Amino acid sequence: MTVSTPLAAVLGSDHTVRCSDGTVRRTIDLDYAASAPALAAVVDRVQEVVPFSASVHRGSGHKSAVCTEAYEAARRTVHAFCGADDEDVVVFGRNTTDALNLLAHCVPGDVVVLDVEHHANLLPWRRRRVVRTEGTIAATLVRLEAVLSAKPAALLAVTGASNVTGEVLPIAELAALAHRHGARILVDGAQLVPHRRVDITAAGVDYLAFSGHKLYAPFGAGVLVGRRDWLDAADPYLAGGGATSGVSVLTDGDVDVRWHPAPARHEGGTPNLLGAVALAAACEEIARLDPVAVAAHDRAATDAVVRGLTRTGGVRVLRVWDDSDDVVGIVSFTVDGVDPVVVADALARDHAVAVRAGKFCAHPLLARLGADDGAVRVSVGLGTTAADVEAFLDALTVTCLSL
Ligand code: PLP
Repeated sequence: MTVSTPLAAVLGSDHTVRCSDGTVRRTIDLDYAASAPALAAVVDRVQEVVPFSASVHRGSGHKSAVCTEAYEAARRTVHAFCGADDEDVVVFGRNTTDALNLLAHCVPGDVVVLDVEHHANLLPWRRRRVVRTEGTIAATLVRLEAVLSAKPAALLAVTGASNVTGEVLPIAELAALAHRHGARILVDGAQLVPHRRVDITAAGVDYLAFSGHKLYAPFGAGVLVGRRDWLDAADPYLAGGGATSGVSVLTDGDVDVRWHPAPARHEGGTPNLLGAVALAAACEEIARLDPVAVAAHDRAATDAVVRGLTRTGGVRVLRVWDDSDDVVGIVSFTVDGVDPVVVADALARDHAVAVRAGKFCAHPLLARLGADDGAVRVSVGLGTTAADVEAFLDALTVTCLSL
C-alpha cells in the first residue's frame, strides 16, 4: 500500500489519549468527513486577523478597515476558488446547512432531490420531490430525466459526493440534464469540495454550498455560491442591520425598508470574520495543492481501507451504485450482528482510533442500503497516512474477534 502524505501541513495529529489497557497512544483520526483538522496555514491566517477586533462594514477606523478588507478579500478568494463568474455571488453563513436553508428560502418553485441526500439537502426544501435512486448512476439519470420531463422543477439539488459511501456524482452531466428541463442545479459540496476541485462555471453548476469545518478550517462558516437573480429577488434571509440601505417609519406606523442586493441582503448582523477568513485561507492552501496528487492520495487510502475491510469476516461495505468508479475518501460498513456504535466505541476506547457510527444524518439512504441500524464510517483526508489505515484495520480485526 502506498499512501503518501502529507500534502499540506495538517494540525491535530499529535494528540494522545490513554486507552483501556492503560497505554498512552497517538490518536488516529479517521473521521475527516465529520470535521477535518485545521491546516497550519489556516491557523496562521486566523492569528494574523485576531488582533483586529473591529466590526466589518461598520466603522471608519484603521482596524475596521482592515476587517472589512479581510472579509471582502475572503469573499473574492472563495469566488475564484469555485470558478464562479461575474453573475455569481458568495454569501457567507454558518455552514452548509445554513447555505442550503438560504437557497430554500429563495427558490421560486419545486425542488427535486435524490433519496441519497444528507438531511441538510432534503429537509430545507419546502416543495420537494424525492426521486428513488436506481442500482446504477446511469439508470438513476434516466429516472431523473423522466421525473423532470413529466413535471418541471425550479431546482435539482444533489450531493456532489455521498457522506455515507463517498460515491461521486457526475455533476456536469447532472447540470446538463437539469438545464435541458429548465431547472437549475445546486450541488451540496460539503463532502466533494474537500477532496476535488469544483469549477462551477466549467461544470455548469448554478449553486454550490460547502462548510469551512470540513475543508480544514475551524467551525462556524460556510458558503452559498451561485447565481444572483434568485438571491436578489427573495426577502432577506436574516433581516437586520447590514442588510439594508435605508429604513424609515411611515406615518401609519409601518416600516419602509430598502434592502441591499445579495450578498449583504442575506448577511444581516455582524458577520463571522474569523470564520470567513479561515475558510478562504483553506481554499487558498488547497488551491496550491496538485489536484492529481490529492486524488491519488485519497484513492490510495480509500482503496487500502476497502481492501482491508473486504478481508475482514462479516463486514459489508456499503455502496449505492454498481457503476460508480469515483469515490472520495469515505467508506461505510456494517459488521454482521454487531451494533455499529459498539464497534466505534471499542475502536476509540481500546485503540485510540476515531471513526463515526450511526446513520450520518442520511436516514433514507441507510434504509435504502438495508442498514437501518446504522453503520460505521471511516473517512480519510490530507493528513491520513498508511500507518493510520493499517492501525485501523488491525484494531478492527481485534475488535471483531472480541465482540
Ligand atoms: N451535506 C453533506 C453531504 C454533509 O456530509 C454534511 C455534514 O456532514 C452537510 C451537508 C451539513 O454540513 P454542516 O453540518 O456543516 O452544515
